[in-house]
Parts: sequence; structure tokens; C-alpha cells
Amino acid sequence: MHLSRYPRLHFAHLPTPLEPLERISAELGGPNLWIKRDDCTGLSSGGNKTRKLEFLMADAVAQGADTIITQGATQSNHARQTCAAAARLGLQCHILLEDRTGYQDKAYVHNGNVLLDQLHGASISIRPADSDMNAEMEQLAHLLRDDGRKPYVIPGGGSNEIGALGYVNAAFELTHQANERSLRIDHLVHATGSAGTQAGLLVGMEAMNSGIPVYGVSVRAPKQKQEENVYGLAQRTLDFMGLSPNLVAREAVVANSDYVGDGYGLPTNSMVEAVKMLASYEGILLDPVYSGKGFAGLIDLIRKGHFKQGENVVFLHTGGSVSLFAYPKIFDLPGYI
Ligand SMILES: *Cc1c(COP(=O)(O)O)cnc(C)c1O
Repeated sequence: MHLSRYPRLHFAHLPTPLEPLERISAELGGPNLWIKRDDCTGLSSGGNKTRKLEFLMADAVAQGADTIITQGATQSNHARQTCAAAARLGLQCHILLEDRTGYQDKAYVHNGNVLLDQLHGASISIRPADSDMNAEMEQLAHLLRDDGRKPYVIPGGGSNEIGALGYVNAAFELTHQANERSLRIDHLVHATGSAGTQAGLLVGMEAMNSGIPVYGVSVRAPKQKQEENVYGLAQRTLDFMGLSPNLVAREAVVANSDYVGDGYGLPTNSMVEAVKMLASYEGILLDPVYSGKGFAGLIDLIRKGHFKQGENVVFLHTGGSVSLFAYPKIFDLPGYI
């Protein structure tokens, strides 16, 4: 498979490090844990969307776009990385933020990702929860076209068959790193939302016949729906790449929705424990919305004996720690009342 057939810009810091989590592994007493540091992709504090944006932005430039439109929740890491990529390319950027949580807290509305969106020079407009965000983006694109601009619309999370190529590539990168150090990866675990990360990883892992199963921890949708979203996008990605639809079987798509709690972006006790644990044992920052819930799932699965002793489990750190500053009160730390 030859990804250079697809237009790509190079602004991610790759390959991202693959590191052992020795202290946490010892503390939990289960499998050997490793972490793939996609929180270190380099663009505006990093995260998983940067890999997708290398392909999406190249497509935008190829189409002659001068303006980027995308959408996400208020504290969207995808929106923040898109604003940064647009700034770097000298493109205008408009983002539509859906008030999915209803939080009015000043830190949530103005700090974290929102602060950075604005520093990158993007214009932001807010939409109420449950708006049809795709329709809202199309409407804005229409207005901009009438104004003589050339907008390029990126779906939420950058999750379409072009963005997913970033994670097809990440599957190659991780497998190569493991091969170089003779590390047998038995499981790959990560937080799954708009599905592009998991779909791309599945396509890459299966196309290489790596034998590395991918385990998604859902941060929003129930299991069945999340698995269907991932499977659907994996199929569209295979088709886009000219690969057989049989490469990714429906049974290979696994998403566990037991760690969502009350909903997207709403804190859970196990997420708070996971964020504190990784910060205090390894000096690594997770986030409250995605990687914190993903790692909470991993901790719980280890405690329940889901993995065997001696197995090597890689957690893909998808980034997002900037949103810690949008949720300062949930960690119950001295100085915050
Ligand atoms: C977007 C995001 C995810 C989920 O990735 P998807 O490709 O949307 O499934 C996970 N973690 C973080 C920090 C994210 O920003």
C-alpha cells in the first residue's frame, strides 16, 4: 500500500514516540502497558486530528480553497488543530461550536481549546445542542460562496475517508516501531468518537495483516451505534483506497461504551482517577473528554482481568490535555472551590 498516491502536507511531528508505562504497569499489576504519544503531533499542542489534517488540508489546497469550515463541541480539539493548520497555510478558518454539554462555566466557554482557536485567528460561532451541524456548515459555505470565497468543509473530527488515511498511516508507523524493537503488540486501545481514528487504524492494521486488534473506548455513542459508525467509515475508506471490503470484518470492530458516564464531555469518577493516575505516576497529561475516559476503560479492563499477564497493551494517546483548563474544578484540588 502506497499512501504517497494521496495528496498530503507534512506538518505533524512524526513518528510520535512509543514509550513504556513502567510505573503504571507495576501499580496495576496486569499486562505491560505502552503509550503511543499522538498527543505529541506538534501542532498547537498536538493531538490525533493533526494526522487527519495532513491529508484533509492537502485536499483543500488541491481544490483551491481559501477558507476552511469545520465544527465540533465547544472544547473541540479537532477545531483547535484545524484552526492552527489553517493559520499555518494562510487560509481563513470558520468554526461552528455546538454547545453539547450546556456548561456555562467561564473556563469551559472561554479557556482551553476556545482560547487557542481565537489565538489562531479563527472566527467562532456557537450553535445550540443537537443542531444539525452539517446543515449549519453547508449554510455557511453557501453564504461564503456568494461572497466570492472558496470554502472547504471538513466534517466533525475530520472523520471521512480522506482524514482516515492519517490513521492508516499511523497503523504502519506503530507496527514499524514495534518491529524495530521486537515488541509484540497484543492489543491497541484508544478513545473513539467521530470514528476516523479507529476506522483508519483498522484498515491499516488489516491491510498489513499485522494481527494487532484495535479496541475502541467510546466517549459518546452506545456500543452498537459506535461500532456501526466505525465499520461504515472503514468500508468507505477501503473503497476509497481500492481495497477489498472484506479486509475489515464487522467482528473486528470493537467499541466499549461502558465508560461514557452521563454523556459526551460530562466528567466521570473513573476519568478523574485515570487523569490523576497518569499525571502522578508517569508525568503524562490525559484529557477529561476523550483520553481520560479511554484510559479509565483500560484501567477497569485490567482490573477485571481482561488482558493476560505478559501481554503488551498499547494505549494510543490521542491528545486533548488543553481541555483540562476548561474543567479546573472537577479534580478537587487545593485552591479550587
Ligand atoms: C477526536 C478525539 C478522539 C477521538 O477520535 P475520533 O477519530 O474522533 O474517533 C480521541 N481523543 C481526542 C483527544 C480527540 O480529540
